[in-house]
Amino acid sequence: MNNRLAPLEAIEAALNALSDPETGAGLMAAGRVAGLSIRPDGRVSFTIEAPSASIDRYHSVREAAEAAVRGLAGVTAVTVVLTAHGGGAARPAPRAQPQPERRAEGVAGVASVIAVASAKGGVGKSTVAVNFACALAKLGKRVGLLDVDVYGPSLPTLMGTTAHKPEPKRGGKLAPVEAWGLKTMSIGYLVDPETAMVWRGPMATSAIRQMLDEVDWAPLDILVLDLPPGTGDAQLTLVQRLPLAGVVIVSTPQQMALADVRRGIGMFEKTHAPILGVVENMAWYETPSGERVALFGEGGARRTAEEFGVPFLGEIPLDVRLREASDEGKPLVAAEPGHPIAERFLAIATAALANMAVGQKPAPAIRFE
Ligand code: ADP
Repeated sequence: MNNRLAPLEAIEAALNALSDPETGAGLMAAGRVAGLSIRPDGRVSFTIEAPSASIDRYHSVREAAEAAVRGLAGVTAVTVVLTAHGGGAARPAPRAQPQPERRAEGVAGVASVIAVASAKGGVGKSTVAVNFACALAKLGKRVGLLDVDVYGPSLPTLMGTTAHKPEPKRGGKLAPVEAWGLKTMSIGYLVDPETAMVWRGPMATSAIRQMLDEVDWAPLDILVLDLPPGTGDAQLTLVQRLPLAGVVIVSTPQQMALADVRRGIGMFEKTHAPILGVVENMAWYETPSGERVALFGEGGARRTAEEFGVPFLGEIPLDVRLREASDEGKPLVAAEPGHPIAERFLAIATAALANMAVGQKPAPAIRFE
């Protein structure tokens, strides 16, 4: 018991020895440290909650805090996430002004960033993102996969890496978790799911920025972003900040989902990110006798893509093995590359790369009736 308590006190003392830029008090006394956890193996993680207006002053504090805790006896690894904490007490948060950063530099050491998006949850976007990334790797690319869904990270489950923690490297960056030939990062590796669940927009955004900038991604040909579902703030902040080489939109054939595809295309059109194409997931179910049953309607995503003048990359049927492999944390494309679904993902990735090669200019104009 005492073994666990001693480092906790030492950690708190070390953090309190650092002064909070805003108040001048110790970091603990100023209430900046949240979610401090120590694992039995000596891994420590916590969050520094900075006021969003002065977050820039806290990057060096984060580094200092990490270094201070790393130097303590019994500590084997340290993960510190910096989050921006909303505005003043009485002032309502200005809804329409998230003030995203506009930087055109991209991610250090990453040649191209591809976002996988869907306008709503449950269409299999994360399943597609993981297998798409594995397919790009099979095609010889050096690929990373970043789970941008801070509120519902699914990447560690899909990759079978729930027990992994990114290791800090020399130079202060975090080493991504490597699995199935991919470098991966997810908020699920860094903090307890309940901790992130209550973060407000600016906190989520700064966590995403850290996963882009403070992870040792290099060298990568392609970083695949598994965007959270929807067309909300987090996605917009990101796409406005990053020069995207392209966007892949995932949909099911349902009419409702297709209406959302239109919104998704509209959102990325505004940011001038090239649409590499639409993937139709859960396109049909094949009965044991080989008959295809179109549970959600037929060919809708292909028609929608044509209607908007964006490429159609291919269909993925409903498949029990794909679902099982995802639940087991074994991406089908990497674990069973000969499976017919894996071959479909390879074809989709090949088409997306071809579109990326020609798609460096903005997507064709999309009109809304
Ligand atoms: P999203 O990221 O859009 O919320 P997920 O990728 O988490 O969706 O998928 C939701 C569920 O559907 C998961 O259980 C996943 O295994 C399953 N799933 C996704 N695509 C397929 C498919 N083509 N066939 C069978 N199950 C699928």
